[in-house]
Amino acid sequence: MTRILRSHVSGRWVEGDDRQTLLDPTTEQVLAEAGTRGVDFRAALDHARHRGGPALRSMSFAQRGELLQAMASAIHEHRDELIELAIANGGNTRSDSKFDIDGCMGTLAYYANLGKAVGDAQVLLDGEPVRLSRSPRYVGRHVMLPLQGVAVHVNAFNFPAWGFGEKAAVALLAGMPVITKPATSTALVAERLVEILVERKTLPDGALSLICGPTGDLLDHLTGQDVLAFTGSADTGRRLRGRPEILARSVRVNVEADSLNSAILCNDTDPGSAGWDLFVREIVKDMTQKAGQKCTAIRRIFVPEDRLVDARDELVEQLRAIKVGDPREASVKMGPVATRAQLDDVRAGIKRLGSVATPVQGDGGRGELVGVAAGKGYFLSPVLMMASEPDSADVAHEHEVFGPVATLMPYQSVEHVLRLVRRAEGSLVTTVYADDKDFVQAMIEGLSSHHGRLNFGSSKVAEHSVGPGTVLPMLVHGGPGRAGGGEELGAWRGLDLYLQRTALQGDEPLLAKALSRATTWPPSEAGS
Ligand code: NAP
Repeated sequence: MTRILRSHVSGRWVEGDDRQTLLDPTTEQVLAEAGTRGVDFRAALDHARHRGGPALRSMSFAQRGELLQAMASAIHEHRDELIELAIANGGNTRSDSKFDIDGCMGTLAYYANLGKAVGDAQVLLDGEPVRLSRSPRYVGRHVMLPLQGVAVHVNAFNFPAWGFGEKAAVALLAGMPVITKPATSTALVAERLVEILVERKTLPDGALSLICGPTGDLLDHLTGQDVLAFTGSADTGRRLRGRPEILARSVRVNVEADSLNSAILCNDTDPGSAGWDLFVREIVKDMTQKAGQKCTAIRRIFVPEDRLVDARDELVEQLRAIKVGDPREASVKMGPVATRAQLDDVRAGIKRLGSVATPVQGDGGRGELVGVAAGKGYFLSPVLMMASEPDSADVAHEHEVFGPVATLMPYQSVEHVLRLVRRAEGSLVTTVYADDKDFVQAMIEGLSSHHGRLNFGSSKVAEHSVGPGTVLPMLVHGGPGRAGGGEELGAWRGLDLYLQRTALQGDEPLLAKALSRATTWPPSEAGS
């Protein structure tokens, strides 16, 4: 019998109608069904607002941090089981699955420690008092407290665990209850994860709800005390943030969307050097990890004209060596993409890129596969395109192909590469492979405005580099423009989305007494 994924709302598990099937993208076998027709979303919001919210707000930051630590520990106990589910439903290799599950636990544990560092307070003091009149008694200052609504988190299909953890950790630490909605096609991991947390009673009633399937009329009932944090395609992001009720009630919205991330090789980096090897290694990893279905994956590769042939040859050689196939096979380094629709989308994207670039490795076909039944599964081999005329290669700068696909392009000067990179109109991350300080300076000054993160892969840190693909909780994640204009994580910075900053004016000693249990924000122990 097919397993039915349930939603956890109003403190109980409910099955909805009108179900969509979840498949194993390697075998196309049906794994489960999920739907939400019949779920009472207004009641779900009310339950979270009136049960979960007060319970979380009655706790100190340190106590909420303990909840996050308990979540991370509970997930850790079920790590192997969750990894198997990610392999089955996401087509992830074991290593890709660990990346997702461990990323989730790591982020929860990081914010657990941040809660500990903030300590017993519930009220945060932002900055020092400022004098507002001739009398030193009359001052102004800022405090920060959680909004009294619900944090609704809508996640993309590619990171069902990490996507959940990175948003939930921050909202719960801030003191807001969470309703999390994984993408339906890969919801198996998120459903089991929440089931584990509910079974273990890690959180107060109403602090965490789950929706497996469409959101129905949920978003119609959001108010100015609620938050909507979305990760997914730019199209869906636009539609959600433009909803009339979201605009009318000034619901806070954070969008993490498409990104045409770049890798830039400086002309000081010679083939065979440590910096060059890092450049090749990280591009190949980024293109093939999770079959390129990472928001941070490198999509555009810029090299000086005289390095184009070397870069092409080495990337082609290494991409050819990647074994594609059943992710359960130990030799396989890249599994399928997550769904049939995703495969069709990627192939259509490769065709579009074909109008401005030539394939030099792969063409959207399945290639040679390991351990896969004939005709089954959503496979393609990694695709490297080359556009020798980057200035007229509009599609390469504007269309994100969300799979194992990147385009290699030559540049002529620092100004030229800056112009080309900025044509993506806002990205999550660009990586610069350089040792030259002037080049690095030009990249910082010329690209920061268009990026949430710049990653520098110089030869001295080559062996320590985590690459652009890992979203670290201590650094901000997000990007302007096409990338959604959002910002998440970044240690204490991420909590801003869930806190209201309020200015207080009045008698300094009186305010000081009323705020005696408040604490300075950001916490000094939080480091970055
Ligand atoms: P998507 O189709 O936009 O879906 C994202 C989420 O939105 C899913 O949970 C989906 O639910 C939900 N959704 C779709 N329409 C909705 C509506 N009308 N109301 C409420 N929810 C709705 O994106 P995706 O295919 O899952 O993810 C791929 C995209 O995500 C890529 O473009 C990638 O760049 C982007 N991404 C960005 C980041 C980042 O941090 N910037 C991270 C990961 C992925 P259903 O599944 O139920 O339809």
